[in-house]
Parts: sequence; structure tokens; C-alpha cells
Amino acid sequence: MLAAATAALADLNTYPDASASRMLAAIAAATGAPEEHLATGTGSVGLLQQIVQATAGEGDEVVFAWRSFEAYPIVVQVNGARAVPVALTQDEHHDLDAMAAAIGPRTRLVLLCSPNNPTGTVLSRESVEKFLAAVPQDVLVVLDEAYAEFVRDPEAVDGLDLVAAHPNLCVLRTFSKAYGLAGLRVGYAVAAPEVAAALRATAVPFGVSAAAQAAVIASLAVPELLAERVGAIVAERDRVAGALRRRGWTVPDPHANFVWLRLGTRTADVATQLEAAGLLVRPYGGDGIRITIGDPAANDRLLAALP
Ligand SMILES: *Cc1c(COP(=O)(O)O)cnc(C)c1O
Repeated sequence: MLAAATAALADLNTYPDASASRMLAAIAAATGAPEEHLATGTGSVGLLQQIVQATAGEGDEVVFAWRSFEAYPIVVQVNGARAVPVALTQDEHHDLDAMAAAIGPRTRLVLLCSPNNPTGTVLSRESVEKFLAAVPQDVLVVLDEAYAEFVRDPEAVDGLDLVAAHPNLCVLRTFSKAYGLAGLRVGYAVAAPEVAAALRATAVPFGVSAAAQAAVIASLAVPELLAERVGAIVAERDRVAGALRRRGWTVPDPHANFVWLRLGTRTADVATQLEAAGLLVRPYGGDGIRITIGDPAANDRLLAALP
């Protein structure tokens, strides 16, 4: 990937392919989604920004679960819309019934995140289908699947299977997480042709660099490397979660590349304690900490450092 990206820099005096046609073709081949259902952007957050801008302005409402991805309230507020956060259930899942009930006449957009960052829980396919049936057709539902490649649960939703039957569903995927290309800023949306066309039309021109396009094409050509890397992380994730549970920790089933510990008022203390042991974790206010899975040695150090 690095070689492909570096080689592309030889042409840094030229613009990238504005329609990103080779990259789109590679994504279409890898996902099975026809090209007219696809749009690429500067990270999935870039696409999310386009979606919010196109759908929700002053006085409009955007419903999302909380706690979830930190970018959601920011992107909503930057566009002048009103954030409607809906609390997660006790077991750290989206409360889809409460989210459906939170949809009002001003709601333009609903954001679902599966696996949810930072709790790692997934939505089932059945629950998302039921939710989509309850949402008005003129409300767009975004399903953010930034960690899709780490999911092993056969009941979990796979947005790509639902797009064809749901014209108001837009699935977001990224090359930032499992593919390890966060610095290059590439993500893609899979949606009905009208939604995908609107996203292509409103994208920042030449937003996805030639180096990013080359790295994505090179990455998609070696799926076995991705499978190996992700498989190793998934095995370690499940080992760490199992070890923590045996020691009495409550760990929601992890489906991404991290585990979530709800620590409440102990959050800051435990994060500081781990930092003192040379382990960097992500504390979230008074909610809990997200621990990203590292190599086996780092994970062992984590297990040794936790009470
Ligand atoms: C990391 C992340 C993203 C995206 O990132 P990009 O780098 O902008 O593609 C989107 N959603 C969630 C839930 C994430 O964790």
C-alpha cells in the first residue's frame, strides 16, 4: 500500500482522477455493489458531513444513539441542525424503539452505528429491518459501519445486504480502520442511485488524492492480507474480553477492534492508572474507557495492569 501511495506521488503536479473511476470499480468489485450505488469521499466523516449538509439545516433534527461516535453531534451542530441523542440501553446497545419514537416532523436524518463506537455492540439485521419499516420514507437513515470488517456475528446487520430494498438507507464504510489507511482519508457510501449520485455531485472536487486512490486499489487487490490482519485482531479481542470477564468485569460483546469498560465515576482514575503503566486508552467523560486491541504482548500488559 505504501509503495502504491508513494508511486502515485511521482505525479503530484497533476490532479487526481476526479471521478475516482478505477477506485470505484475496485470497490464495486470488492463489495458487489453496482457503481451507481457508490460514492467515495474524504473519509466516511467527509461523506457524513455532505449528508448532514444536504438533509438537515436550521431547525431540523438528527436522531442518533448516545454514547456513540463523537463526530455526530459536532457535524450536526456545525450545520445548524438540532442533535437528538437517544440513550443506549443498559447493555450498551442502540435503543431502536426509543430512537423510532424520537423521530418527529422535523427529523430529517437518523444515524445508526454498528459496531457502535465506543461500546462495540452490533445491531442485528432483524432489528434494523424492523426499524427501517417504522421510519418515514422521507427520513434518511445512515448506517455507519466503520468497523464492519471486524464483525463475526452471523445475526449482525450487514448494510450492503439492505441497500437494494431500502431507498432511504445510506451505508458508510471506511478505509481508515481495518485497512489501516486513516491518514489518506478515504471512505465510501453505498445507497440508492439517487442518493449516491447526490453525494458524488456534492463532493469536494478532487477530494480523494491520487495517493489515496492508489493505496485503496492496491489494498483491495490483496484481501488475504486484510483477512489475516483482521483475523489476528479479532482473536485477540475475544481473548481479552474472555479474560476480563473471568475476572469479573462486565464487557459488552465486542464486535470491533476494541473492548468497552463502563467505569462511570472511576473512568478518569483507571485511565490514569493505565497510562502510568504505559498503556494509552481512551476515556469518555464519566462513562467508561475504550481499549483498542494491540498485539498479544500489549494486551497481556493491559490485563496485568487492570485491577
Ligand atoms: C473512525 C470512524 C469513522 C471514520 O472515519 P473516517 O476516517 O472519516 O473514514 C466513522 N465512524 C465511526 C463510528 C468511526 O469510529
